Amino acid sequence: MCKKEQYPGIDIFRLPAALLVIAIHTSPLASYNETADFILTRSIARIAVPFFLMISGFFVLSASARNSWKYHRYIRKTVYIYLISILFYLPLNIYNGYFRMNNLLPNLLKDIVFDGTLYHLWYLPAALSGAYIARYLLNRFHCGQALAISFMLYGIGLFGDSYYGISENIPVLKSFYALLFQVMDYTRNGLFFAPLFFIIGARMADCCRLTPEESKENGLCMAVMLKNICRLALTLSLMSGEALLLRYYHVQRHDSMYLFLPLCTYFLFRLLLSCSGYRFKKNYGKKYFFNEYFFREKSSAWLRTYTLTIYIVHPMMIVLVRLLAKVLHLEYLFIENSLLHYLSVCILSLLCGLILCVLQQKGHRLYRHKPIEHVPDRAYVEIDLQNLEHNAKVLQKAMSPDTRLMAVVKANAYGHGSIAIAKCLNHLGTEAFAVAAIEEGIALRKHGIRGEILILGYTAPERAAELKRYDLTQTLIDLTYAQTLNRQNIKVKAHLKIDTGMHRLGVPTEDVLSIQKIFAMKNIFVCGIYTHLCCADSLLPDDISFTRRQIERFYSLIHKLEKAGIKIPKLHIQSSYGLLNYPDLKCDYVRCGIALYGILCKPHDETVLHLDLRPVLSFKSIVVLIRLLEKGESVGYGRSFVTSRKSRLAILPVGYADGFPRSLSCSVGNVLIRGQKAPVVGRVCMDQLAVDVTDIEGVSIGDIATLIGADGRTALSAPEVAERLDSISNELLCRIGERVSREY
Ligand SMILES: *Cc1c(COP(=O)(O)O)cnc(C)c1O
Repeated sequence: MCKKEQYPGIDIFRLPAALLVIAIHTSPLASYNETADFILTRSIARIAVPFFLMISGFFVLSASARNSWKYHRYIRKTVYIYLISILFYLPLNIYNGYFRMNNLLPNLLKDIVFDGTLYHLWYLPAALSGAYIARYLLNRFHCGQALAISFMLYGIGLFGDSYYGISENIPVLKSFYALLFQVMDYTRNGLFFAPLFFIIGARMADCCRLTPEESKENGLCMAVMLKNICRLALTLSLMSGEALLLRYYHVQRHDSMYLFLPLCTYFLFRLLLSCSGYRFKKNYGKKYFFNEYFFREKSSAWLRTYTLTIYIVHPMMIVLVRLLAKVLHLEYLFIENSLLHYLSVCILSLLCGLILCVLQQKGHRLYRHKPIEHVPDRAYVEIDLQNLEHNAKVLQKAMSPDTRLMAVVKANAYGHGSIAIAKCLNHLGTEAFAVAAIEEGIALRKHGIRGEILILGYTAPERAAELKRYDLTQTLIDLTYAQTLNRQNIKVKAHLKIDTGMHRLGVPTEDVLSIQKIFAMKNIFVCGIYTHLCCADSLLPDDISFTRRQIERFYSLIHKLEKAGIKIPKLHIQSSYGLLNYPDLKCDYVRCGIALYGILCKPHDETVLHLDLRPVLSFKSIVVLIRLLEKGESVGYGRSFVTSRKSRLAILPVGYADGFPRSLSCSVGNVLIRGQKAPVVGRVCMDQLAVDVTDIEGVSIGDIATLIGADGRTALSAPEVAERLDSISNELLCRIGERVSREY
């Protein structure tokens, strides 16, 4: 079930890449051999920056990421970092006399947009505009066309960079570049340089992933790695040859862009992917060199910040090394010896980066709310995430090997708290979720939930922009709905619902024509087809044959569509009972709700599979008052309960507004105190209720009252309580109120 993707190869290479960038700015071999230094810093090290751009493309511009929060978060973060970096280097700018230059305002604007206010900061505006352009191209054109356009842009850049000597001799080009260099200092920027690498990265994310089986076998396949090492070595030598040739003929105006550079970076990336086992899977981790203890998702995020910090601070460290060397009169060591100079800048940058990262993390923690010591609340829900994990694993095991769990987290995850539940499952590797309403989906995205989020219910078609922005998948409930949605002119992902007999939402099975029309719609990308079973919970012969017919209808439709030449997307049929009673179906997803939370709808339901599911939720309150009453006194609204003996009552500060149903009034319901059942007396109020504890020894203020869940050896399960209400667990749980705190 854990198929969290990680790429340790890529993550770890960030560090050497950052050190290569430092090499470009310090020329480590200059005092030994100029040509060697040229090859190192003007050729080989040039792969570092495109590598960083390519990673960003890989993670934020892939087909599934580029129109989602991932892209927006990347842009937002980069803007912040750019602003902070500008401020960080302001003193140096002032010292250098930056603000005393002629035409300050236009130059400042030019620098902010293209070149960066200090030489290495060009990377940040280039990342911003490059990502923007790459995303535009990818959305507007086919992948191949986008690649071609970005390659053309790169070509324009190339002839203004290391091939400028040629353009200089061609009048038209010369005046074109003269014009260009009025608004930018170099062509190595977000317009001509960055888009290509972003797009290659995005392409690799979309095309170069292997299927799980392949990657299992290819794990850390030496042959693949060796092949990639050879390719990389070959292209690197070709690029170095190219660079030396250009230098020999004095063609270079600047030396960042080469014909072979995209190819080098591409093979570097392939190599790093192959030593990540393409997809690094947590549960296979132990077999690999990078096992899960060695490498976690956290370390990946940490390395990202760390290398970026090193990139940003290293020029400051160059200044610092020079300053210190002068003050200590050690110029001959730390300035004149280029290698020592380089090493000292590296060490200082690594250290400074480390300190800043630690400070940043501390600040982050401080800024987040401080933990408050827990005191038992008025009414609270306890969520056992270990049981959730257990259930998810058990359910996943019960499915066919290629079937994935789609966790149904609608209605606040059946009262369990959708954000925390989805986060936990995301962490365990679940990558598909279902909600009922668009608001629920948006809330999940805003809290960083990854993977597919399917909206099972109706969404106003006018909200298509939000569907796209938050990368939500909409259910198509019939042809008319699909047509209206299509007319919004916004590309959205959708699953098509088929009505096979429930007669609620969905296109009727017979209506193949409508379904074909929907598949042909320009703005709707149908990535799933599903149906819902209406009596999968029953094992009565009639119900079984009805369900079988539903399943047959669904598959015969799929057959027809296949014959009509439609590429069949992901399929799903079962919900919890569908899996428990029809476990042999081989779909792409099972939409699990109630079973994931460890219970059934009704207490005595028979099922074909008997899984060891464990309840995740308990609902609790505390005794806040003990009241002694004489015989014949009445309790609560309407005086509906009159004591028949001398009685002891406990008052609980929880009522129907918290989700304890009013219909449990007057001894219909019980709660557990000290492991024993105490009947509800009188009517349940909006915010309070009373229980009779006359027969329970020693009840006192502060005792915990369990409304749903276990107390010692006795338990009040949700299905049992629900049955007393003539309802099912689902309703009982999802009505647990907003104001009840959830503890995990
Ligand atoms: C709610 C819902 C589910 C989940 O059902 P459970 O019985 O809780 O597993 C699955 N599919 C659809 C369409 C739903 O509305």
